[in-house]
Amino acid sequence: MEVLLLKKERLNGFIEKLQQDFEVIAPLKGDVIRFLPLKNPDDIFLGKNAYFPIKEYFFKKNEVLFQFNGTKIIVPELPSKKRAFFGLRRCDLNAIKHQDMVFMNDIHDPYYTAARKDSYLIGYHCNTAPSPYCFCGSLELADYFDLMVYDKKDDFLVEIGSSKGKGMAKKYASLFSKTSKKISEEEKKIPGSDRLEKKDISLFYNNSDWKKGTDLCLSCGACTALCPTCYCFETHDEVKTSNINEGERKRNWSSCQLQEFTRVAGEHVYRKDREERFKHRIFHQLEYFKEKHKVPLCVGCGRCIEGCPTRIDFVDILNNMKVENG
Ligand code: SF4
Ligand code: SF4
Repeated sequence: MEVLLLKKERLNGFIEKLQQDFEVIAPLKGDVIRFLPLKNPDDIFLGKNAYFPIKEYFFKKNEVLFQFNGTKIIVPELPSKKRAFFGLRRCDLNAIKHQDMVFMNDIHDPYYTAARKDSYLIGYHCNTAPSPYCFCGSLELADYFDLMVYDKKDDFLVEIGSSKGKGMAKKYASLFSKTSKKISEEEKKIPGSDRLEKKDISLFYNNSDWKKGTDLCLSCGACTALCPTCYCFETHDEVKTSNINEGERKRNWSSCQLQEFTRVAGEHVYRKDREERFKHRIFHQLEYFKEKHKVPLCVGCGRCIEGCPTRIDFVDILNNMKVENG
């Protein structure tokens, strides 16, 4: 892939140029780090990965799918906004890739597609694992970006990953210099990010060690809300009290960790126990999605561990599991 050189002192100039053409979303530091619309390029914080995932920009927390009035259905306009996302880590980019598989490849979700269509993805490579919970290096992450910025001490190297990226490089060509340098596969590896041991976890489905996690689990759903790849949702109708034929159908994030999520017609709850729900999340992230899409859903960002109120570390639990006899 083609690589360009960006002098460090030109980074803010690059961001300012982006701001003329896009709404720029970047990691900003407040009580925690989160991706927010950027006003001042000096506010960008790249010292650690964001606490909250990027998914809320595409797969919204709450969304009106349509309004109804009797038999009349009104679908909202779905304007797409030109946005440049700056400072996405390799895990964030792969999480977008996996949600694209779900919402744009498996089915054509018009709401997700509209939010995603005019988005430009600019990555920032981690030179070392930014959090002790990261394990992206244990998973099968791919290159999935329009531009990727590598911090090489004196300069940045910027790799072009798509036609959108090529267009940006051309448009802002005065800021970049040519270079013969390339980014090797070795340089894409992130030291300290491979703590999940390679194992066939299907051998451990009935392992007694799952209790170590589930005994601490509060079924709060923080892990799935913070996960950049989790995509469970529910739909419900909100009607006007003055006219119950009029209202809105909404889609909201939900969580496989909530018992209510598995309640179906006839009052049957098919994952009643915390252990079943906890295991289901891990198996969906590491096994079930892979059976269909050839890659694990999990991108190893560690957010579900860092944000868990009881700090359940499923990586430690899996690493310590041994095959039990009988
Ligand atoms: S965040 Fe932790 S306690 Fe809450 S549901 Fe997830 S694993 Fe359980
Ligand atoms: S399961 Fe945990 S480590 Fe994996 S992508 Fe989700 S939040 Fe990140």
